[in-house]
Amino acid sequence: MAGKSHEGYAVYTSIFDDHSPRRLTLMSELRQALEKEELQVYYQPKVAIKTGRLYGAEALVRWNHPKHGFVPPDEFIPMAERTRMIKHLTLWALKQTFGQCAEWHRQGLDLIVSVNLSARDLHDPELPDIITGLAAAAGVKPAWMMLEITESSIMTDPERSLEIIQRLHDMGYRLSIDDFGTGYSSLAYLKKMPLTELKIDKSFVSDVLKSENDAVIVKATINLAHNLGLQVTAEGVENRQVMALLDSYACDLAQGYYLSKPLALGEFNEWMRSDAM
Ligand code: C2E
Ligand code: CA
Ligand code: CA
Ligand code: CA
Repeated sequence: MAGKSHEGYAVYTSIFDDHSPRRLTLMSELRQALEKEELQVYYQPKVAIKTGRLYGAEALVRWNHPKHGFVPPDEFIPMAERTRMIKHLTLWALKQTFGQCAEWHRQGLDLIVSVNLSARDLHDPELPDIITGLAAAAGVKPAWMMLEITESSIMTDPERSLEIIQRLHDMGYRLSIDDFGTGYSSLAYLKKMPLTELKIDKSFVSDVLKSENDAVIVKATINLAHNLGLQVTAEGVENRQVMALLDSYACDLAQGYYLSKPLALGEFNEWMRSDAM
């Protein structure tokens, strides 16, 4: 429920409060929502900046709740992450995206599909074997998939995370460090991680034209990543000017509203066929 307005922003107090009854209801409904197809995977394109070629897509989950309407992921995923519920959500998202990625490859579309993992997933020693089973069932090659892990989720227990990350890497999965710049990862750990990609958080990218500091950070992060042998995706690219600046910094890939917002599967397939590419 929206509380009183504060400087033009509605202050939400109850739904996602830790002890709110609605929050508890939502949590208990999430499990069923997964089965009832109230959750859907949307796909947001990732594009190579130099060539304009489509590289792949990030899978982003959406919950269309029958009573509350659209519940954004930022609001139910953090809740799920505090419980074992996140494992069901992660496995559901992996199953959907593995199936879709295999389908695109059958159609001759050479896309790399990214899926988000949570901190809890990185502490779960069963995860790599479960993923192997899901991939085999879907007919997807690990090299077609990119697993996104946030900087902060690695840092909650770096040793344990590194072990799981190493196993996923050995199995052939590409690994991406997400929301880079917002956590507190030490460069020492970053160097130890078998990563493919670094994603610069949109909070830096969106202000890159206005803020000299952000421009310096973005440029330095791209150079750091390249020196560590990683490709770089900038997220939150919203206009052509930012795209051009990132190009001048030799950033590899872009994702953002300038290219496309996250799209339902049908819309994404349509987008690929259209001139938008
Ligand atoms: P994220 O992984 O950092 O995903 C990027 C977010 O930025 C997405 O928000 C996307 O819609 C948004 N975005 C993309 N381009 C632009 C842009 O140009 N401007 C702006 N302002 N925003 C842009 P979304 O889809 O609401 O997802 C929010 C977060 O929820 C994700 O952040 C991720 O942390 C989490 N999430 C989403 N799906 C999953 C999932 O299946 N599993 C897990 N564990 N987390 C998920
Ligand atoms: Ca992500
Ligand atoms: Ca991100
Ligand atoms: Ca984020």
